[in-house]
Amino acid sequence: ARASELVASRVLDVPDFPKPGIVFKDLMPLFADGPVFRQVIDEIVAYHGPESFDVVAGVEARGFVVAAAIAYATGKGVVPVRKAGKLPRKTHSASYELEYGEATLEVHEDAFVAGQRVLVVDDVLATGGTAGAALELVERAGGTIAGFTVLMELGFLDGRQRLAPRTVHALLTV
Ligand code: IMP
Repeated sequence: ARASELVASRVLDVPDFPKPGIVFKDLMPLFADGPVFRQVIDEIVAYHGPESFDVVAGVEARGFVVAAAIAYATGKGVVPVRKAGKLPRKTHSASYELEYGEATLEVHEDAFVAGQRVLVVDDVLATGGTAGAALELVERAGGTIAGFTVLMELGFLDGRQRLAPRTVHALLTV
């Protein structure tokens, strides 16, 4: 099966989480299935060739799972983009609106060598607020965006348009 079908087969729709009216896409069954997880990671690596990036940045918390797997598979390092107050040293920070609430992301000021090409990853793209903040932070910390990849994109929320002219790679768009 192609990765899009694998993602579709392993996502659970959770109604009214974390708030009434939101249908949360739960990808935990995908992460828990070894062969499926490996194939999904391999497909991302095939799309973003290992020669196209130097380091992988993952967005807390599910983005860490994806980022670490891509980094290990390609022999690159991994940099965390974290929620406010978690990183121990000097950070850049960016606040943004969520589909449900508001949040702040941070990255260490010295996370990247100037010009380092950074593949940014998360599990789900919804409104694009999180991704917009993460991409901005990577650049403020001196990185160059090599790509932005998610396993699943909620197309009806127009996150992709919000991130333009940046491009988004999604294994599955629903
Ligand atoms: P956005 O900022 O609205 O694009 O929301 C994306 C961020 O929230 C990502 O970090 C996702 O992990 C998380 N998120 C939003 N909606 C969902 C969902 O339905 N399933 C899983 N994660 C979600």
